[in-house]
Amino acid sequence: MCDRFDRPLRWGGDEFCASSGLASVIGGGPAHPVTILHHLRSVRTLAFVMSVVAVCGVAAPASARMVLLGRSWQGRPIEAVEVGNRSGTPVLVVGCIHGNETGGIRIARALERLSPRDLDLWVVPDLNPDGVAADTRQNAHGVDLNRNFPWHWRPLSGVYESGPRPLSEREARIAHALILRLRPHLTIWFHQHLDLVWASGGDRRIEKAFARVSGLPYHPLPQLDGSAIAWQNNRLRGTTAFAAELPAGEPGRVAVARYVRAVLAAAHLR
Ligand SMILES: [Zn+2]
Repeated sequence: MCDRFDRPLRWGGDEFCASSGLASVIGGGPAHPVTILHHLRSVRTLAFVMSVVAVCGVAAPASARMVLLGRSWQGRPIEAVEVGNRSGTPVLVVGCIHGNETGGIRIARALERLSPRDLDLWVVPDLNPDGVAADTRQNAHGVDLNRNFPWHWRPLSGVYESGPRPLSEREARIAHALILRLRPHLTIWFHQHLDLVWASGGDRRIEKAFARVSGLPYHPLPQLDGSAIAWQNNRLRGTTAFAAELPAGEPGRVAVARYVRAVLAAAHLR
């Protein structure tokens, strides 16, 4: 059940653990709009639907599917929205992993409203909701989730506290399981605020396409021990993951649109 936050994910059909309300309507079945309409017809009142929309706070397109991936240590939901074509190229965008770097969440929310025909686009707006609530880089255990992945993990303390062992953190395990399931052709992790594309081991054509369209300078930089990106680029060969380091502050509407175009430009390169 959904209240067993730490339970390993099971995938496919009704095995998804969807959150309440609209999420269960959308999350439990195939993403086809007709199916959703069928479910919606079974809902007794419009008021119920509206209350669910209000709770979820998501204005996703009819073809979107919301999935509750799990919960943070403090019980906050960690959700993904899948849009586009389920048989398309799998692409993952994570809006926020460091809780005091929230600029990418706006971009993630904009991506949720798309319906790209040839992409199976998964968007995780916020992987670290406890960190966002506390305005801290780390999660509620004081761990930097981007040092908690199983590639060259080593004990680190202070701002880069890496946890007691690889994948010790619930939030990191959630991302790890999702990535192993999806095997995204491309994963973009939004960070702040270095104002550059941190390229470290992915396909340079794809990284450079994102840099060109986004306007973020392209920089080949070292792979970081225990980072999600290093783990992906080394363990899932043939796929690309990189960090898009936004400038400081919240991106405005024009900037969000530019980053959305950059995501799509990168995602369409094979
Ligand atoms: Zn960061």
